[in-house]
Amino acid sequence: MTKRLYFEDPYRTEFEARVLDRRTAGGRPALVLDQTCFYPESGGQPFDLGSLNGVEVVEVVEDAEAILHVLKSQVEADAVKGRIEWKRRFDHMQQHTGQHILSQAFVEVLKGETKSFHLGGDSSTLEIGIGTVSDESLERVEGRANQVVFEDRPVKTRFVPPDRIAEVPLRRPPKVEGVIRVVEVEGFDWSACGGTHVGRTGEIGLIKVMGWERIRGNLRFGFVCGARALAEFQARNRVVRDLAGKFNIQAGDVPVFVERLGAEAKESKRRLKKLEETLAGYEAGEFVAKAEGRLVKTVLAERGPDAARALALAVIRKGEFIALIGARSESRSHLVMARSESIGVDLRPLAAELASLMNGKGGGSPSLVEIAGDLSADLDAVLLAAAAKLKI
Ligand SMILES: [Zn+2]
Repeated sequence: MTKRLYFEDPYRTEFEARVLDRRTAGGRPALVLDQTCFYPESGGQPFDLGSLNGVEVVEVVEDAEAILHVLKSQVEADAVKGRIEWKRRFDHMQQHTGQHILSQAFVEVLKGETKSFHLGGDSSTLEIGIGTVSDESLERVEGRANQVVFEDRPVKTRFVPPDRIAEVPLRRPPKVEGVIRVVEVEGFDWSACGGTHVGRTGEIGLIKVMGWERIRGNLRFGFVCGARALAEFQARNRVVRDLAGKFNIQAGDVPVFVERLGAEAKESKRRLKKLEETLAGYEAGEFVAKAEGRLVKTVLAERGPDAARALALAVIRKGEFIALIGARSESRSHLVMARSESIGVDLRPLAAELASLMNGKGGGSPSLVEIAGDLSADLDAVLLAAAAKLKI
């Protein structure tokens, strides 16, 4: 019904057409034309964007033999001038042709068959029928794919009748019957495909696999081609360069440096915890000496929940006490309550009451509870309320 001009010339961006039918799609007006450059969503490739007589085309969908151009608002004329958004189209051509080459490279290098393909807004994915892959074998696949790019091979399309299709060494059997559109990356890959592709492989620029994940017992690879590959390289290079600059090291030294930093942070945390415990022992002695009765309560300045816990435990080791210790971390206020074994009271019901005062949550055992609440909670007032409730 609609002549697909992108089959003959995927580089064509402007065309004139007659309106054959007017329909609606999702509550919007949609035109069927006698011919079009607009590619409709199909075969894993998204639709083109652009305009008809200056009115925005928001979606292009296939409906049997017709292509529906879904419009932002109605176009009254029966003859239209169409224009597709070239940047988006060329991006799709780069990704899609890159996919054909990458699929065949997986077959050649790892005997990996393509199970599915999806061209997304940021990156594209390729599901390959293999269970595992090493960095080395994946680099061999990328190497082969990019060799085909650098050789700047022609990409040719032709229609093949059903009785001749057996002569074409297709990578996958066609999904449709009848006349088949064959896309050939010269001498390398033959695919049955209705999408848009670049004229020569050199236009893809670069094919890069970014990562992979397991799916249905296969591996699904994310990859980028052309301008997307450049954008990815720029973004990642900026991250590495900034990291290296911040620590005044070479970019290549970043992994070793970060690993060392992580180990040092872990060791520092361990030592700090020991110091907190030692300090808590001394502090507990002072608090116990000036305690009124069996209650020890205080709010620590510029110390976190670990210090509060260490102090509370150190206090109850000094004798028969209940310790109520408040502290603040970067984003929360904290309260630790601990009691000596000889004092039989269950602290958990009290913790629930205090938690509501702090707009937070608490929990623990009958003899040790911890509460975390809003940073703005008035810890001194909470401690007074707790002391009043405890009555010891
Ligand atoms: Zn294709």
